[in-house]
Amino acid sequence: MLHHHPLIATIVIGLLLAFVLGAVAQRLRVSPLIGYLLAGVVVGPHTPGFVADQTLAAELAEIGVILLMFGVGLHFSLKDLLSGWTVAIPGAIAQIAVATLLGLGVAWLLGWSIPAGLVFGLALSVASTVVLLRALQERRLVQTERGRIAVGWLIVEDLVMVLALVLLPVLAGFSGGAAAEAATTADQVLITILLTVGKAIAFIIVMLIVGRRVIPWILHYIAHTGSRELFRLAVLAIALGVAYGAAVLFGVSFAVGAFFAGMILSESELSQRAAEESLPLRDAFAVLFFVSVGMLFDPAILLRDPWPLVATLLIILIGKSTAAFVIVRLFGRSTGTALMISASLAQIGEFSFILAGLGVSLKLLPEQGQNLILAGAILSILVNPAFFYLVERLRPSLDRPAQPASPAQAKQPVTEEPLVPTALTDHAVLVGYGRVGGVIGDDLRRRGMPLLVIEERPEIFKQAQTNSIEALSGNAANAALLETANIAKARLLFVAIPDGFEAGQVVEQAKAINPSLKVVARAHSDAEASHLRQIGADSIVMGEREIALGMMAAAFPKSEAEQVPPPKAAGS
Ligand code: AMP
Repeated sequence: MLHHHPLIATIVIGLLLAFVLGAVAQRLRVSPLIGYLLAGVVVGPHTPGFVADQTLAAELAEIGVILLMFGVGLHFSLKDLLSGWTVAIPGAIAQIAVATLLGLGVAWLLGWSIPAGLVFGLALSVASTVVLLRALQERRLVQTERGRIAVGWLIVEDLVMVLALVLLPVLAGFSGGAAAEAATTADQVLITILLTVGKAIAFIIVMLIVGRRVIPWILHYIAHTGSRELFRLAVLAIALGVAYGAAVLFGVSFAVGAFFAGMILSESELSQRAAEESLPLRDAFAVLFFVSVGMLFDPAILLRDPWPLVATLLIILIGKSTAAFVIVRLFGRSTGTALMISASLAQIGEFSFILAGLGVSLKLLPEQGQNLILAGAILSILVNPAFFYLVERLRPSLDRPAQPASPAQAKQPVTEEPLVPTALTDHAVLVGYGRVGGVIGDDLRRRGMPLLVIEERPEIFKQAQTNSIEALSGNAANAALLETANIAKARLLFVAIPDGFEAGQVVEQAKAINPSLKVVARAHSDAEASHLRQIGADSIVMGEREIALGMMAAAFPKSEAEQVPPPKAAGS
């Protein structure tokens, strides 16, 4: 029966097992990722029982990549991208070079050919989009300078890999061909490179000139029809359509295509809604990505090839990270930033599999190499959360503003805001400076109360600074940030963010530092309100209730309202 519906079976069994094992992992206080990967191993061909369709699983995972990159693009402007590229381009290229050299070293030790070493090293040099973006999103780092550099880095890696994929067949001809053919093959290499780069540039130009006008227009047009369903469909059609078109017409990767589709929408005021609409699908498909990676893992390799596997892992975890760390530091960024970027890149994923698969089919890479890459991927993805955990532990003691290494670098703008503790005391701390916080901020200033804002969205953070308000950029749930805001000596805390449960974290941290602090928080449901009360908020304002009261007050101005008879009791 299952074989009649391979697509349905793969989706259903993949999601079901991922859900069960993900929940078990969560319960055991480890990352649910581990559960998803294990689910993949269970439905993979190397373990007994049901075997899901590997090709289908890989394609489904690709949809996850598209939606993830589209979502990231939605929060990225061209300016953001360019600001990170000064580090990302040289960084990614240098890192790829280091990983490839290390890969060549392992190949030499194992007695493989030079092309095998090249393919192996290249495959180890490229990080997985899904793993990196999920890690950044979970920690709300995409919008920070570190996040922008990491995403820029990822895009450069993607573009280099696209080039590598088109060059591999040429390389295969080159290594197998006679010397007389070498000259033509060298020409071929050059033409292939020019053609690939040309097509990628053409894609970017088309997107920036045509896409930038047409795509937001379509979305605005659909938004005005008022149909939520059509709007959702439009978002999906744009994300998937552009990614597919980019791959088919311009030869760039799905991920890069989707990223640009998102980025040209980021300037539109509908981008936030578009991001929300694509979220649930994005998360489901990202889970399938991990299942598909798990499926590739053959546990027997642990016994068959332990030492080569250790070497592979050392390249991914230590070699690549060290290279990234050194490069980011050379560009004058702080140790904390460099460590974070290294951690996010210390894994491999989808591109590595594609490269390894092609390498084997072209007879450039021995099967042993492919198996090492697959095992290296799953193991590096497994330990990646631990890397982040370590970096987060180390960061507070390391993250001082970087010392520029040379006068030339000193000129380079280091946009990351160092944490400078505020001198304010007996002040109000306002978390969130959006629609709600903005009004609170204005009022507090009119009252002459010393004020400090904590805001995580860079553009809103800048807005607060433009309004001459002392502000800190970042997630207020971070205790270090609250300490920088001198919460210990503050008088009032306004938590004006929309997510009541995240607000709970802020309140909990703040109360732990200053138990006598008066906390006023915002909620949108009874559950959130009682959660906040339990955690120690002194007053909670339920947004929707206040809106209702405001609407009634508008309909029945005070004098009239007094004449309105009280509502009848239910049932009478
Ligand atoms: P609004 O819903 O328009 O009042 O906007 C809420 C504001 O709170 C937005 O500008 C968000 O960027 C900001 N915000 C949400 N969560 C956090 C957080 N954990 N830390 C700091 N700012 C936040």
